[in-house]
Amino acid sequence: MDLDDRLKQFRDEFYIPKQSNGEDAIYFTGNSLGLQPKTTKDYIEQELKDWETLGVEGHFKAKNSWMPYHEFLTEQMANVVGAKLSETVVMNSLTVNLHLLMVSFYRPTQTRYKIVIEAGAFPSDQYAAASQIKFHGFGVEDALLELAPRVGENCLRAEDIEQTIVENGDSIALILLGGVNYYTGQKFDFQKIVEIGHAQGAVVGFDLAHAAGNVELNLHDSNADFAAWCSYKYLNAGPGGIAGVFVHERHGEAFDLPRFAGWWGHDKATRFFMDKQFVPMPGAEGWQLSNPPIFQLAALKASLDVFEAAGMKNLIEKSKRLTGYLEFLLNDIHDERISVITPADEKMRGCQLSIRVKDADKNLFKAVSDKGVVADWREPDVIRVAPVPLYNSFSDVYKFALILKNCLA
Ligand SMILES: *Cc1c(COP(=O)(O)O)cnc(C)c1O
Repeated sequence: MDLDDRLKQFRDEFYIPKQSNGEDAIYFTGNSLGLQPKTTKDYIEQELKDWETLGVEGHFKAKNSWMPYHEFLTEQMANVVGAKLSETVVMNSLTVNLHLLMVSFYRPTQTRYKIVIEAGAFPSDQYAAASQIKFHGFGVEDALLELAPRVGENCLRAEDIEQTIVENGDSIALILLGGVNYYTGQKFDFQKIVEIGHAQGAVVGFDLAHAAGNVELNLHDSNADFAAWCSYKYLNAGPGGIAGVFVHERHGEAFDLPRFAGWWGHDKATRFFMDKQFVPMPGAEGWQLSNPPIFQLAALKASLDVFEAAGMKNLIEKSKRLTGYLEFLLNDIHDERISVITPADEKMRGCQLSIRVKDADKNLFKAVSDKGVVADWREPDVIRVAPVPLYNSFSDVYKFALILKNCLA
């Protein structure tokens, strides 16, 4: 299968961490921190060099002028998430962006004030939503509506999501779901959730931290109101890398929407007139605050160039085979101490599989880690493994399954 893999050469474009014996680690945590493209250093060094030789003039005279630098990433980022150029901007980091977007898109009233999230959503999303609720003077107990799987089940059922939204329709201000749940690996049906939410008069946004660069996204067509994602997971921008934002074009010129403003969101043509009056740029760019960190942009650009060369469609096609192969091998182990809680339907997941370990036995995780597997343990009882199509091989998957099987034995 590796010989047949049209994307196999991309593994060589990344630094693969080594085990103590000098062999490549089996790196299955691209869902947590993507690996470093070998070109990242050059991209950053170019900017260091221009700063060294040009000083402030680099804003206009650098090889890649810093003034419009963020625009150099817009098209590639828009392609990764299926958005229009005017709907996409790269800025800040994820939780910051969730707050900025909620300032505009969570506008509670006395009767419509609830936020729907997943029970067990990523903690930062829970904190962000709860603090927005409190900021507007509502009680979290009452206003935070959590979608939980049925007792004895791991993933959310589409019909239960729908039922909760419809039953609470009049009181929901915002639905904010992950694109792919970080714990179970379950992917949601964006379009369907947006349809149901909009029919009830709610705003619908997505946190795509585990979806961007992992699954096929059609943000524009999904009709979602907004989305935000980080770029250090599947998008390989490096720890704390600069994040991405989507605002649907129907809001792009809604200049009356409340927003927290900064000079980088101000109309480009007049930004340097230093006027008192804030004139927002149309589109997602109008939500920017500060002039962006160029080294961060350079690091993300290095990775987006690799994504473009590989092609999102090809990556997703390989991803389905790679994860399907992993699933096949895991099922073939036939051991009741492990079970995959990620949906078996490939339309309802990305590359990650979450393996529940009976009795939360963390020793199994320690044992596979000792054998050169870089996976992660998520409390209470799950090992997450994410074979990433850009740099993981079918051999990685095969070796992992063998190691797991031996450790169980
Ligand atoms: C990784 C992740 C975060 C992290 O937020 P930062 O602001 O980038 O630290 C937040 N939410 C979700 C769903 C995540 O997966």
